[in-house]
Amino acid sequence: MSEIHKASCDCGAVSFETPLNDLTVGACHCSSCQKISSSFYIAAHYTGAIEFSGVENISIYDSSAWAFCSKCGTNLYYKLKSADEYSLSAALFDDKSKFELKTQLFTDIKPAYIELTANTENMTRQECFDKWG
Ligand SMILES: [Zn+2]
Ligand SMILES: [Zn+2]
Repeated sequence: MSEIHKASCDCGAVSFETPLNDLTVGACHCSSCQKISSSFYIAAHYTGAIEFSGVENISIYDSSAWAFCSKCGTNLYYKLKSADEYSLSAALFDDKSKFELKTQLFTDIKPAYIELTANTENMTRQECFDKWG
């Protein structure tokens, strides 16, 4: 059985417990992630249903499928409407000690002042579009 990970937004109005696909996380430097996160977004992945506590406090930003806590503004996840595939903000999890940064996306539009030291698989904007359309 997969380990259950506890997570919550900054104010605690939204919380959940979920297994994860694995303990690798990915950084995204695309322009949406830069604006939403003020730097870059680090995502942990889970495919399946998640039962949220405080679901009434979740605001879904419809055009891009981002979800936020409506009380504190914490960025919760990005999810394609067509599938139960969550890119959960890694920052939500109580224990991040086992997370390993494996990939970085949109590295060619990453601001020069950001440098992540992990040894990652890096993909440019074009490589991302080629892979995911
Ligand atoms: Zn909150
Ligand atoms: Zn992004």
